[in-house]
Amino acid sequence: MVQTLPSQYYADFLSATAKARKPSPIRGLYPLESRPGMISLLAGKPNSATFPLTSVQIKARSPSDPARELTTEITGKALQEGLQYGPTAGLPSLCEWIYGLQAREHGRKKGEGWRVSVGSGSQDVIHKAILALVNPGEPVLVESPVYAGILPTFESLNCQFIVVPTDSQGIQSSSLRSTLENWPVGKPKPKVLYTVPYGGNPTGMTASKERRKEVLALAREHNFLILEDDPYYYLYFGSAQRPPSYFSLELEQPEVGRVIRFDSLSKILSSGLRIGFACGPEAILNAIDMHTAVANLQTSSLTQAITVALLESWGYDNFKTHTHAVSQFYKGKRDVFERFMKKYLDGLAEWDTPEAGMFFWFKLLLKTPGAGGTEEEDSESLIRTKALEKGVLALPGTVFLPDGGKTPYVRAAFSLLDESDVEEAIKRLRDVVLEVRGA
Ligand code: PMP
Repeated sequence: MVQTLPSQYYADFLSATAKARKPSPIRGLYPLESRPGMISLLAGKPNSATFPLTSVQIKARSPSDPARELTTEITGKALQEGLQYGPTAGLPSLCEWIYGLQAREHGRKKGEGWRVSVGSGSQDVIHKAILALVNPGEPVLVESPVYAGILPTFESLNCQFIVVPTDSQGIQSSSLRSTLENWPVGKPKPKVLYTVPYGGNPTGMTASKERRKEVLALAREHNFLILEDDPYYYLYFGSAQRPPSYFSLELEQPEVGRVIRFDSLSKILSSGLRIGFACGPEAILNAIDMHTAVANLQTSSLTQAITVALLESWGYDNFKTHTHAVSQFYKGKRDVFERFMKKYLDGLAEWDTPEAGMFFWFKLLLKTPGAGGTEEEDSESLIRTKALEKGVLALPGTVFLPDGGKTPYVRAAFSLLDESDVEEAIKRLRDVVLEVRGA
């Protein structure tokens, strides 16, 4: 039996905002509506008999035979649920499917001290989790470079960024250890670590199993929670076996309950569906739900109904077949991008080959070897002006540094372009680099 941290343990982790929230007087009573014999006069739900939609038909490629199209009709109870207000944490059918998935993928069984909350994309639930855990001005551990999309959440709280560097093996656990061991006496320690463990955005790097184990051990020693933001888990295409997630690895720890895992269906089903989900300790997921109940009531029921109809019609094996095909698609894109990087930027840039996700993170070598003068350390003006003038758009690395500063790194997404556009883009970048180097 897995030892889970008791729910009262999280009281010290919750932010003042989360503690001040009260359960919604209406949504909090929703579960009672389904009690046998209950006549509910509770919620101001519109009567779905007045809704004009009578069915929703979805057609999707069969994962096992992409030439075949599968048709699923959403009618009856499933349609009613999709058209009506639903539970704050997500449609029960979708939550059940997620429990089954997490048991298969991460060995985490339903009913063992954790639960799921569906969000409008993972961004939604990550943002709410941070607000539920972090008080204004508190220190937070963030890997660097970091997903730029999450910085505004921390910045709006005026957080103090405690930066943990990453390299080709992912987050540098030794640096994290030294930061925590040298933490000033009397200063409150950070309560959370934010990390993207596979195919990081922007670095494309995947943390090794050893690093993850070390981070988990540090979480226990120094009493922090790990926010495992993992939209690229299913986009792992590395040659070695995919390392286990934090959510899974924590089962090997003496106690469980320090990981809040965020999944996204954006990169594998559709980003427009806006479905992501958080899995973690009930006390924290409850706080996320209380925020949802006041912010947007719930994630779209119809979107959830479409998602679960598709996933149930596939079953878990087909889901796996599909996600594997998606990862191989991106592997192909990665290979093409790297081929042209080698052809045009050899000696002008350095990089580690990404083994997951959709990004190349490369360092521009802006100084000609042997030439005098100071080394150009910053890709910012090159990318924002010169490259733009030549008609190529990428992101300067500085965008991904929590504490600002200069960097010669650049992030390029390889998810969309076809071969000829990749070649042209990299050629243009090469021309700009040569120009800057004065070659
Ligand atoms: N986290 C990371 C690291 C991301 O790259 C993204 C998407 N760019 C998200 C979270 C948000 O994804 P979504 O809300 O679409 O699930």
